[in-house]
Amino acid sequence: MAKHAAVRFDRLLKSLFSRRTHSIRTLVRSPQRGRPLILNRSGLNKTIQQLQDLASECLAEDYARTEFDRLVDKRRRWHVTKSKGWGREAKKRNFNQWFDTKIPFPNCIYSFWSNSTCLYVGRTIRGKGRPQSHFDTHWFSKTTRIEISSTSLGSEVPKLECLAIHTFNPVYNRRRASKSMWAKKCPVCKVHEMIKDEISTIC
Ligand SMILES: [Zn+2]
Repeated sequence: MAKHAAVRFDRLLKSLFSRRTHSIRTLVRSPQRGRPLILNRSGLNKTIQQLQDLASECLAEDYARTEFDRLVDKRRRWHVTKSKGWGREAKKRNFNQWFDTKIPFPNCIYSFWSNSTCLYVGRTIRGKGRPQSHFDTHWFSKTTRIEISSTSLGSEVPKLECLAIHTFNPVYNRRRASKSMWAKKCPVCKVHEMIKDEISTIC
């Protein structure tokens, strides 16, 4: 899949260059029929976004795998359907108990899943921002499991969260990973910045 994304990335850059040089190419040959290839600021911003998304597809999984293997001490899954008790409050109580006994560190990345679709990615740093706060959201009823990756290194949590967002593409995270100011260390965000800096100057 990453290979396909790399091909699309390349194709998009070629088409950008082709649009950028359209006017000088028409100087030496008769204009082609059909709509002229226009390059404007909003089109350029859209292309930057597409290139960043494709870059995420190419890079995020590898980076995430390496960094999660290096920094995560324990991974656990909690299955909603196996939880005893009906209703959100019962599930929350059940989860609380499980979380407090099974998660060894106060720092973790958590993700809510509906089978193979990631619904939400969040983080707990020094015990703050626990996954339980999402049991009351409108999308919680779709959740089939919650995955927790805990680490003893609180300072690495923002980077891990950012990588997880790039990799899983959660449906209900309002902000995109690259917008977060505390994920400066994220290698995928760095590539996003380089793409933006490079492409912004051509129009
Ligand atoms: Zn990032």
